[in-house]
Amino acid sequence: MPQDWKKRTKLVHGGIRRSQYGEVAEPIFLTQGFVYDSAEQAMQRFEDAGDDEFIYARYGNPTVRMFEERIALLEGAEDAFATASGMAAVNAALVSMLKAGDHVVSARALFGSCLYILEEILTRYGVEVTFVDGTDLDAWRAAVRPDTKVVFLETMSNPTLEVIDLKSVAEIAHDVGATVIVDNVFATPVFSQAIELGADVVVYSATKHIDGQGRVLGGVVLGTREYIRKTLEPYLKHTGGAMSPFTAWLLLKGLETLELRVRAQADGAMAIAEALQGNPKLTRVVYPGLPDHPNFEIAQEQLERGGTVIALEVDGGQAAAFRFLNALKIAVISNNLGDAKSIITHPTTTTHQRLTEEQRAELGITPGLVRLSVGIEDPDDLIADISQALDAV
Ligand SMILES: *Cc1c(COP(=O)(O)O)cnc(C)c1O
Repeated sequence: MPQDWKKRTKLVHGGIRRSQYGEVAEPIFLTQGFVYDSAEQAMQRFEDAGDDEFIYARYGNPTVRMFEERIALLEGAEDAFATASGMAAVNAALVSMLKAGDHVVSARALFGSCLYILEEILTRYGVEVTFVDGTDLDAWRAAVRPDTKVVFLETMSNPTLEVIDLKSVAEIAHDVGATVIVDNVFATPVFSQAIELGADVVVYSATKHIDGQGRVLGGVVLGTREYIRKTLEPYLKHTGGAMSPFTAWLLLKGLETLELRVRAQADGAMAIAEALQGNPKLTRVVYPGLPDHPNFEIAQEQLERGGTVIALEVDGGQAAAFRFLNALKIAVISNNLGDAKSIITHPTTTTHQRLTEEQRAELGITPGLVRLSVGIEDPDDLIADISQALDAV
């Protein structure tokens, strides 16, 4: 049974559908529509389409379905719906189940566009949103109410890498009957068992580790069959956030090597974090795999590893951080993460530029802070390169 396979086997064989030609690689069905044998069959399909019956690519497509099934198998979710980007997934997961008058509690440390949806869009439609410090369980307890419909969080925050105790937050949320929606990008589907820990809905930007090779945007929402088909699908199929079959095909190939890449990246991140501890040019080395990280225990218990991203604070503020970025020869300056290539980002002036200085300070995003997404290069080369770039600061 595919459900009993280990992750690596699921990632290579899960969800596959072969055409009459018996091809080895997953076929790409680049088609927007489907031909029916008869008018009666068309009518029947529109009345009640079966699992492997398709109508229109905005509703579903065989290659997209393969991707959905493969990732659902990996996550241990009953079902999944793939989207054009991670943000289409976050937006649909929230908007499809909220209405005016509902209350949402969310962790404050969020990816910028997630914050925008919660703070700017939902509130415009009469949803009340309370933000809390995600690592403070008492704050969650104080914020939830009987009318709280959704609890939203990123398991590991960007870029300061706080790890939220998902199991406890889920218990607090479920006590008031709220649905727990988790953006699990930083934790990755390799290390996190979010559903087992109590998440009801799990969202990924597939743009990150799942593609892992910098090629496409994609996203996915995972949950119970009931939630995916009754709540999410009607919203997504009518509002047009569908994933392209070509993207689904690239992401299927990305999934095949996901576990190998992410484990290699986490090994590299750990080696780099250890090597940089005590470096005189750095005032902070933040990595949840290091025992001095404030959420180390939770990371060990709930994520197994510290993930693939490190935050470093360069002594000397923005000017010193810029000198460090510009002196690196292997890691590229960009703003994606989870890629095979190591990527270095200066959050204050790029990904978190939109926030006020006050908001950044509250999240620990100082002008000297840089985010390093560790790739699959040899860790020795990365350590040597980072060390020479720090010497140059
Ligand atoms: C990148 C990212 C998103 C958005 O995904 P896109 O594919 O860029 O739309 C959402 N949440 C987190 C945590 C991310 O890192």
